[in-house]
Amino acid sequence: MRILVISDIHANLTAFQAVIQDAGKVDAIWCLGDVVGYGPDPNECVSLLSSLPGLTCLVGNHDAAALGEIDLAAFNRDASLSSQWTQTTLTSENLAFLRGLPEKLVNEQVTLAHGSPRNPVWEYLLDTITAASNFEFFSTPLCFVGHTHLPVAYIMDEKTHYVDWRLMRHLKPFTFEGRTIINPGSVGQPRDRDPRAAYAIFYPEKNLWEPHRVEYDIPSVQQRILNAGLPQRHALRLADGW
Ligand code: ZN
Repeated sequence: MRILVISDIHANLTAFQAVIQDAGKVDAIWCLGDVVGYGPDPNECVSLLSSLPGLTCLVGNHDAAALGEIDLAAFNRDASLSSQWTQTTLTSENLAFLRGLPEKLVNEQVTLAHGSPRNPVWEYLLDTITAASNFEFFSTPLCFVGHTHLPVAYIMDEKTHYVDWRLMRHLKPFTFEGRTIINPGSVGQPRDRDPRAAYAIFYPEKNLWEPHRVEYDIPSVQQRILNAGLPQRHALRLADGW
């Protein structure tokens, strides 16, 4: 079984389409939230995502903001501006899709959350101390998260319970050993200085994670961001992947 694991599409249709094409045939798609926000294509991304067979999708903080469920004061100025634009741009049908998304899902093997198992919508796992304190908030062997836009694994040593981390820049397949929290990186706004769209393929029977990157037409997305009157910073950062 091949499961496509994606997160943080951020209304970047070109990156999203490149990922779908590059991933090829999959049995299921797990999307870890932030379908919208920052980017110029919120309706196109929600429509494409919701049409995909075998989809499981969680709500992210930017999706909640687009639904008016959180105070935009929690965002910086540029994120707040793009959130207001997204709110007024999304169709009622696409808003209804986002409104129906759960915060956390658990199956036998994996817990899914946007930010962290402790605080699914908001908490950022940016260091081993924060990650280590989250292991008691899920009981499955694995936990998949997004939110930081960094393809990182936090691995707990079974004997010592020491948590180590690994930035998945090498793109080599990774077999899970011990309990692990892992992030596929961001489709639509990578922040590890690699501008290519990030995603992963998970093979549940093999306990295997394959990190992937794919190039896409960044200038076309930058142009649509500027044409929509969205903050220039969100266009500029796509080229450098930060
Ligand atoms: Zn995000």
